[in-house]
Amino acid sequence: MNPEPSTAGRPDALVVGGGIGGLGAAFALARKGLRVRVLEQAGEFGEVGAGLQIAPNCTRILAEYGLLEEVEALGVLPENMVMRDALDSRELTRLDLRDLERRYGFPYMVVHRSDLHGVLLRACRRAGVDLRTGRRVADYENTGGGALVRLEDGGTQEAALVVAADGLHSAARRKLVGDAVVDSGHVAYRAAVPIELARGNGIAEKDVTLYVGPRCHFVQYALRGGEMFNQVAVFEAAGPENRGAPDELDAAFAGACDPVRKGIPLMWRDRRWRMLDREPVDTWVHGRIALLGDAAHPPLQYMAQGAVMAIEDGWVLAEHCARSAATAPAGARPDWDAALAAYQAVRTEHCRRVLTTARAWGELWHLDGERRLRRNAILRARDTYDYSFTDWVYGPTALAPDEEPPMFTPIPLSSAPAEDPGGGTP
Ligand SMILES: Cc1cc2nc3c(=O)[nH]c(=O)nc-3n(C[C@H](O)[C@H](O)[C@H](O)COP(=O)(O)OP(=O)(O)OC[C@H]3O[C@@H](n4cnc5c(N)ncnc54)[C@H](O)[C@@H]3O)c2cc1C
Repeated sequence: MNPEPSTAGRPDALVVGGGIGGLGAAFALARKGLRVRVLEQAGEFGEVGAGLQIAPNCTRILAEYGLLEEVEALGVLPENMVMRDALDSRELTRLDLRDLERRYGFPYMVVHRSDLHGVLLRACRRAGVDLRTGRRVADYENTGGGALVRLEDGGTQEAALVVAADGLHSAARRKLVGDAVVDSGHVAYRAAVPIELARGNGIAEKDVTLYVGPRCHFVQYALRGGEMFNQVAVFEAAGPENRGAPDELDAAFAGACDPVRKGIPLMWRDRRWRMLDREPVDTWVHGRIALLGDAAHPPLQYMAQGAVMAIEDGWVLAEHCARSAATAPAGARPDWDAALAAYQAVRTEHCRRVLTTARAWGELWHLDGERRLRRNAILRARDTYDYSFTDWVYGPTALAPDEEPPMFTPIPLSSAPAEDPGGGTP
């Protein structure tokens, strides 16, 4: 447990959880002049040592925070995102990430999670956020003028606003929504290794490469200025017993193309992640308690938008707090209820779209047989510079529902030929 910081007294906002979402929100609120305290259950702030893709809808916010250069110095700006078929390795479609940066005004970047987390942690310290570790929140309660949290050690803390950024298995979500996680049946293995170990495997060091295959997919990209190589292997786990164990990993990719098969021995085998999400919900605000990040909208990771959405949430919430304070008499605190209502009004629909699209993406990526061929034909017909599938997500983060861009129209598989003209057999 870290020593008690000097900023004693009641904060304006308590943020439960010091992950990327919690720290992002804490910094966003503190830079608007609010007194913020973060309560993290772990003994130290930290993140998993794997990679993270951050799209322009996140780098735009990091730029506004004055943090983009620091993140960029630690990360990599890939040149392309290339989708390939995992069986025959043929290219299906690509995003030219330099052109994408021109379109959206901000880069598509990949960064080590602990590097991004470290940047946010340092930013919170500079902004005077009161950061406390070893504080596990057991319960939440609304009070007359705000909300309080009960700590597992028996203490309580109170603030005008409580932000629950306590992740996928959020205690706040359990209490306020009471739903269960949804298991997609897929499992992810990760690895971030020195790039020398992956050279010779047919890797594209300057690209994000996504191989899509029957019931599985595989992602690769360089990290830390190109010194490290990140891989994510996702596959449909078999039975309930020891689900997704390492021998299943090997079996799932045994029939894949060379660059994928050669990457599998590099995966960390001592840890795996079940691919869980939740059904979208429309109510994230309960009195003065607001869900944020994975606690509000844990996605399947297939759109690489989970951490991005969490950072957007913090930015939107802080903007609405500042807007409501701007219309109040000098020195008054924000109109918390108005700010929370505005936050919920815009974020729930956006995140619902991401959650449902991520599920649909997963289904599309994992197709087999004739449907795989139809998918390949659709993807190969896409123009590299057609942004109709990304405008709704990579554009500026909406602050109000009427700023939310229209969704794309999906192309039905049935509209494509069951033969991929470029080759490939079921
Ligand atoms: C394989 C994989 C790949 C991914 N790739 C990407 C990607 O490329 N891009 C992207 O944007 N997203 C990606 N994601 C999703 C992303 O990792 C998450 O959406 C994001 O990290 C959520 O952040 P969070 O802060 O909301 O939650 P978490 O990171 O889970 O943080 C929650 C924090 O709350 C703390 N906590 C929990 N309970 C309590 C309590 N009771 N009291 C106090 N503290 C508590 C925890 O210790 C933790 O520090 C990926 C996810 C996976 C699994």
